[in-house]
Amino acid sequence: MDRQTKIDSIVSLMEDFPAAFNYLNLAGNRAFADWFMPRLEALREFDFWEDDELRVIQARRLGNLLSYLKKTSPFWKERLLAYGINPRSASILEDIKRLPVIDRKFFTGKEAYALPRDESHSMIHTRYTSGTTDTSMAVLISDPEMSLDILSCLFRQPYFDLQKMRELLGRKFFFFLGRTVLPHYASFARGFPLDNFTKLSDPNVRGEIYGILKKEPQTLWAFSTVAAEFAHYLAQDGESLPLLAAYTHSESSPIDERLFVREKLNVPVVHLYVACETAIIGDECTSHFGKGYYHIPRERALIEVLDGDNLPVKNNEEGKLVVTILDRKITPILRYANGDRGRILSVSCDCGKKSPLFEMLGREGDRILLPDGEKFSALLLANNFLEIANPKRIMAYQIRQESPGNVSIYVVPANGLFGNNEIAVMESALSAAMGGGIKINIRHTDDIARGATGKLRFFMPLKLIGK
Ligand SMILES: [Zn+2]
Repeated sequence: MDRQTKIDSIVSLMEDFPAAFNYLNLAGNRAFADWFMPRLEALREFDFWEDDELRVIQARRLGNLLSYLKKTSPFWKERLLAYGINPRSASILEDIKRLPVIDRKFFTGKEAYALPRDESHSMIHTRYTSGTTDTSMAVLISDPEMSLDILSCLFRQPYFDLQKMRELLGRKFFFFLGRTVLPHYASFARGFPLDNFTKLSDPNVRGEIYGILKKEPQTLWAFSTVAAEFAHYLAQDGESLPLLAAYTHSESSPIDERLFVREKLNVPVVHLYVACETAIIGDECTSHFGKGYYHIPRERALIEVLDGDNLPVKNNEEGKLVVTILDRKITPILRYANGDRGRILSVSCDCGKKSPLFEMLGREGDRILLPDGEKFSALLLANNFLEIANPKRIMAYQIRQESPGNVSIYVVPANGLFGNNEIAVMESALSAAMGGGIKINIRHTDDIARGATGKLRFFMPLKLIGK
């Protein structure tokens, strides 16, 4: 591929997806590997390209998306007109900022979706966001979107060379530990759900998992908390597995926990910033492992950081994250506040990637309410806690705000209980670091209840306690 062909192939990645492929027939499909591999190569290169080429790609993709909306949906046609947005404008990347910021509530109306007129064109899939802290939202996506939104972002780091990648595409190489396989990975993954009955604490369950993982080298996929728990048992059982890499995501995960997981699994650990509505909007930079600094896949995601009045904040300043996704047509994500907070760092990265680093600072809801009315990041408390308690000693934990003046940290110890003196020292250090007169209680427990998908929330805010 020459440079222009690469640019074109990135712009029309979804549109070019051959009709013979669908999200279930990709593994072991040589025609798919032939189609996908040059595009993956172009995407990997693209991360190192300069801004002018990037903007060409973004503007063309955004223009195509808005033209589709204008053509397909009377609602969107009117909306674009109302804000003076012409999809073919040369300044479309700026013009788009005239659209108001939206959130999940925007999608309670059917008109927000833009279903293709030609139904035979592609299959439409429906997925739902988790809705743990908020109303659940339906996400309608086409088959090419389902097949490629995740896959186009997963292998942007050079952990596997292109030869190895092609080999992996020949089989199921993802092992979903803790939940059923997400449809985006369906061709390439098998699942091992965990719940309140099938638990890692059961040696038979672990034996079964080890058996599967020893048969053929796999890439582990797990929520961060599940990966940490698994790493503990692996060490405890003295097992070593022929893993290829571990992909973790979805939860705020303190640095000490990630370092522990990487040490015990002894493979590259890739932490993804991903959600159902947006798919992947960041993968953690290898030069800043564990810090929660992400590179944005800029060919598909535009990121803004805004203040409470929806005005842009300066680089390095914290604000709410507003995302525009360039390759989702049926559920248009245009200036969507995803409920997370973060900041753009004004540094050029050692790894050589040109995309700015985004630091994820936790979900809007992951904040501890202090008696004096201030708020404190639950992720920061988790970081402080793991730093003084040592992640090697903790199998699992959960922070729960049980009343406005009290926060409890429930701990499943990995090897032996914490002593009363240790606990008292930790409690007072943590509470002093938070200020605001809050009391911290550390409590031992045998187990922590999981959600329906096997996910363990690291923080339960006041409004979820007792639900
Ligand atoms: Zn980097």
